[in-house]
Amino acid sequence: MGSEVDIAENLAAVKARIAAAAQAAGRPAAAVSLVAVSKAHPAPRIGAALRAGHRIFGENRVQEAEAKWPDLKQAFAGTRLHLIGPLQRNKVRRAVSLFDVIETVDRPNLARSLAIEMEKSGCRPDCLIQVNTGEEPRKAGVLPAAADAFIASCRDEYGLPLKGLMCIPPINEEASLHFALLGEIAGRNGLEELSMGMSADYQKAVRFGATLVRVGTAVFGERQPFIAASA
Ligand SMILES: *Cc1c(COP(=O)(O)O)cnc(C)c1O
Repeated sequence: MGSEVDIAENLAAVKARIAAAAQAAGRPAAAVSLVAVSKAHPAPRIGAALRAGHRIFGENRVQEAEAKWPDLKQAFAGTRLHLIGPLQRNKVRRAVSLFDVIETVDRPNLARSLAIEMEKSGCRPDCLIQVNTGEEPRKAGVLPAAADAFIASCRDEYGLPLKGLMCIPPINEEASLHFALLGEIAGRNGLEELSMGMSADYQKAVRFGATLVRVGTAVFGERQPFIAASA
């Protein structure tokens, strides 16, 4: 795993499975975008995906993304970078200037900081709200019961460019229930983007309406822990 050919082949295989799952659900394949999660993978491997024509990527840490992405974004026009990990307020300025989509808006003080930095910088990355569908104490995300109110304040109070919702289901639960819940919250709030599904369950997520699936391992292979730990 991990040579240039493998990454191109993996991308093609994952995209084919996404298309098949979409078709089986009566959805157009073009309704689902693959976010290739490149966290803990070094720039040359990401380059292989870019040379294969892929343009949408996810990173979970601002600092790691800053080390890898500015040159790659420069070299490959049309690249869109998604932040899929927790965002601390002291990194909002840097996040707003590097990322095209911030998927992890989950609390009022972060929404406020994002609004302020967007105003200052003129950069307006699309925003998704992370929902803690499993109500896990140690997981980021707004609780389902608080989601409608938080969505309304992100739109009306903070004026964020809010496009949709994101979730990471609990590891030991049936993901379908969480995908369905996220879709329900998005639907009643008129939000179109649903970021859900990872290597283990992205086809299922497509059946439940995902418009963005975040797939790392199935594209890039196993992450290398020593890189993850030092990034
Ligand atoms: C790492 C990560 C992924 C990708 O996980 P894989 O199982 O490698 O596909 C997706 N979403 C988030 C939020 C992640 O942190």
